[in-house]
Amino acid sequence: MLELTKMRCPDCDSISSSVAFFKETPGDGVCSKCHGNGIGGLLDQFADSFNPFGTGHIKCDNCDGSGVCPTCDGTGEVDE
Ligand SMILES: [Zn+2]
Ligand SMILES: [Zn+2]
Repeated sequence: MLELTKMRCPDCDSISSSVAFFKETPGDGVCSKCHGNGIGGLLDQFADSFNPFGTGHIKCDNCDGSGVCPTCDGTGEVDE
């Protein structure tokens, strides 16, 4: 019998904050790079402003602008 064991997603935004550093707590399902706003970090915005091919629309390259953690698809848990 196949058993799927769920474990906490290591890439969620909440994992990087010390407050949620409990093993029992699942991740918050939010992209850790853009913290859910979908526009990437300050460095990305800085780089984009100097990109001659930029369209002015800055997208987080970790979640493709969705703001959702791509590792767990926003569930906060991944299959072990
Ligand atoms: Zn996650
Ligand atoms: Zn993101």
